[in-house]
Amino acid sequence: MLEHLKQVDPEIAEHVQLETQRQHDKIRLIPSENYVSSAVLEVSGTVLTNKYSEGYPGRRYYEGQQHIDPIERLAIERAKSLFGAEAANVQPYSGSPANLAVYFAFCRPGDTVMGMALDHGGHLTHGWGVSITGAYFNPVRYGLHPETHLIDYDAMRDLARKHRPKLLIAGATAYPRIIDFQIFADVAKEIGAIYMVDMAHIAGLVAGGAHPSPVPLADIVTTTTHKTLRGPRGGMILMKKEHRKSIQKAVFPGLQGGPHNHTTGGIAVALKEAATDDFRAYAHKVVENARHLAEQLSEKGFKLVSGGTDNHLILIDVTSRGTTGKPYARALDLAGIECNYNTVPFDPRPPFDPSGVRIGTPALTSRGMGKPEMAQLADWMHRVIENQENEAELGRIAAEVKELCAAFPAPGIPR
Ligand SMILES: *Cc1c(COP(=O)(O)O)cnc(C)c1O
Repeated sequence: MLEHLKQVDPEIAEHVQLETQRQHDKIRLIPSENYVSSAVLEVSGTVLTNKYSEGYPGRRYYEGQQHIDPIERLAIERAKSLFGAEAANVQPYSGSPANLAVYFAFCRPGDTVMGMALDHGGHLTHGWGVSITGAYFNPVRYGLHPETHLIDYDAMRDLARKHRPKLLIAGATAYPRIIDFQIFADVAKEIGAIYMVDMAHIAGLVAGGAHPSPVPLADIVTTTTHKTLRGPRGGMILMKKEHRKSIQKAVFPGLQGGPHNHTTGGIAVALKEAATDDFRAYAHKVVENARHLAEQLSEKGFKLVSGGTDNHLILIDVTSRGTTGKPYARALDLAGIECNYNTVPFDPRPPFDPSGVRIGTPALTSRGMGKPEMAQLADWMHRVIENQENEAELGRIAAEVKELCAAFPAPGIPR
């Protein structure tokens, strides 16, 4: 492994090896992370990275596309077929550029756009102030109902009628429930907005039939390829045929230069994998594991935002347990359990030490963990919160976690 890298750059080689070990030894609860297969890893590290291919298959600005064109065509066809989309663009460098391409295709600076507020679970690129999408456009934000912590669809509809955004965005980065894509579709139709769904977090669940699909309802669906979909880091845009031309132009030459062909290859492979029965079973297991984990955590006295989960993700408000998000996430990491701290809806605390942590089951499910492991995990999470300052106890938990992980090898990581 890494024989050339070790010779050329032992420092980087060492860090890669240590990171590999770390990814093996810890339980990844970060809901946006996963383990790609060895096949996806292989293609991502090939000579495809050497090739320039600005343009689209059959219409490139560089020669020598005999093999790049078929790779991109395969990725496009597989994306269309997996999600039942009329058209697909697989070139966005990641999720954020995919979203930006949609803004560029349909909006001009100053135009009104509407998305879910970041502190209610939306993404930066849905019009948050520090993002270019909030700075260059006029963002209107909907959010959650103060009691149910579900999306307040009535308030969203009222806001949309009042502000008539050009672009209406559904989708979230920290929302544990199923989003009613139909309500958004009806609102978008009523006010004549372009309806975009950002399914970055749930794309794999949608592909595997474990979550309703927004694809038949939305004008445009954007996604990352590296979260539940379990591909390389990248982005995709699925769309109705009528929007294809605008989106193609917005991605290239509007926003990007040459596509990352090694990533396109990895996306093609991941999409092939995602069309298998194994992947369908995986997607359902992700949701089942999240439900089990949520039940176990509730039994142990953890307070879950909205009371539970319908998808791969759980938001925990830890303030009732006498701590806050940042120190708890830090203690979990010392105990070999990796997650991120997160605001909870209507959080009175600041974003750098909010009230909650965000966890999810995509990565551990890729390792084959199931119901018994969810019970064990909830137990560890309880022990960590009871022993947050006790480094010896955290170390003991880390050793137990490592032992469990040894029995559940992660895809792509040699043992
Ligand atoms: C992760 C995420 C993105 C951004 O993806 P990057 O690849 O990190 O740019 C966009 N939207 C949503 C909803 C996400 O969860």
